[in-house]
Amino acid sequence: NPLLLLNHNSHNHRHLLPVPAGVRVPPRRVVVTGGAGFVGSHLVDKLLSRGDDVIVIDNFFTGRKENLVHHFGNPRFELIRHDVVEPILLEVDRIYHLACPASPVHYKYNPIKTIISSSSTERNDTHYFMSLRSKLNHGYKTNVMGTLNMLGLAKRIGARFLLTSTSEVYGDPLVHPQKETYWGNVNPIGVRSCYDEGKRTAETLTMDYHRGADVEVRIARIFNTYGPRMCIDDGRVVSNFVAQAIRKQPLTVYGDGKQTRSFQYVADLVDGLMALMESEHVGPFNLGNPGEFTMLELAEVVKDTIDPSATIEFKENTADDPHMRKPDITKAKELLHWEPKISLREGLPLMVSDFQKRVLEE
Ligand code: NAD
Ligand code: UDP
Ligand code: UDP
Repeated sequence: NPLLLLNHNSHNHRHLLPVPAGVRVPPRRVVVTGGAGFVGSHLVDKLLSRGDDVIVIDNFFTGRKENLVHHFGNPRFELIRHDVVEPILLEVDRIYHLACPASPVHYKYNPIKTIISSSSTERNDTHYFMSLRSKLNHGYKTNVMGTLNMLGLAKRIGARFLLTSTSEVYGDPLVHPQKETYWGNVNPIGVRSCYDEGKRTAETLTMDYHRGADVEVRIARIFNTYGPRMCIDDGRVVSNFVAQAIRKQPLTVYGDGKQTRSFQYVADLVDGLMALMESEHVGPFNLGNPGEFTMLELAEVVKDTIDPSATIEFKENTADDPHMRKPDITKAKELLHWEPKISLREGLPLMVSDFQKRVLEE
């Protein structure tokens, strides 16, 4: 492929730089879809710092230019406002496909009526309802059409494609902890299914392009991740608790607070994604921190970190909420030589000043 030859030649003058897990690879031309978002922007930082050329594609649905502003003016960085639901032509070596409306506010509340009535003081018109509905449809479209387009792009130019799938593919799991061989327990008609099933379809498409069109693919199943630049108001538990503690509001614990999650610091995830991309393994690989916490325990860590006088307010839980979640990362440890290094108590303080600054700006 002449285009690929051109790409590789243009990199000949560059030095070899290390990536995590000790793998040495030459700098690449990389696309990061969803690169203006939380995880994507940290990935972009790391790719640029190791010498790659990076193109970000983002429609700014939940992403923000502020997350990337420090790279504006860098000739190795480019930001394109584009919706991955539409086709695009680019010439690159690597595609990290992160674009996805990942925030639970857009799909999780049950039923939608509850949002309109219970939040009517803050979001008091049908406008909000309409935008919510279009985002719901768009979530599924992004996972299906967006992934298809990026796989079509990978096929045409011979690029390697990495899908950021999710632990949500395991649904409300009946085995614990979850291994990659577990097929999951997902409600196909539930309120979360546009996300869960959207990602499951994206995994299917990825494997079909791999088997049917010889596209080099990688699949990461990401478990709950936190850190600076998380959306403040997208309803995820860590961002909710941290913002609530800073605003001196009660921490909202849904249900009895005994459900568990395992929280990974974003820098660990970025290392895992890059190690996977440059490895010889397709996956899927669980990327998560096996440290498991109930939501009540998480609230205690947030209190200890930010405000010991913070109070807790119990709220009704949402439908189909997984009861427990914890990654088995044996496979990633063995094959990618990757494991998370930062515990929740170490990682949580690292996001507080970013949140304090953004809450002050509100
Ligand atoms: P995020 O919302 O911060 O980032 C997603 C980005 O995708 C945003 O910048 C958004 O504007 C962009 N986007 C959405 N739809 C798009 C479209 N149609 N075209 C172009 N851009 C679009 O979320 P995140 O937490 O950074 O998540 C990144 C990826 O990791 C997602 O695929 C998500 O499903 C996956 N993931 C994240 C977690 C987590 O805990 N953060 C857990 C599991 C999986
Ligand atoms: N596609 C793209 N950029 C490319 C090549 C393909 O966006 O460089 C899109 C293309 O528009 C199509 C999708 O990827 O909708 C799947 O492409 P593929 O070639 O696999 O399928 P086909 O076009 O034959 O249906
Ligand atoms: N949760 C909570 N309070 C909140 C937000 C979420 O107790 O303010 C709970 C939620 O019910 C779930 C867990 O925290 O059991 C994780 O929710 P999140 O949306 O962060 O991630 P996911 O459910 O996708 O794992």
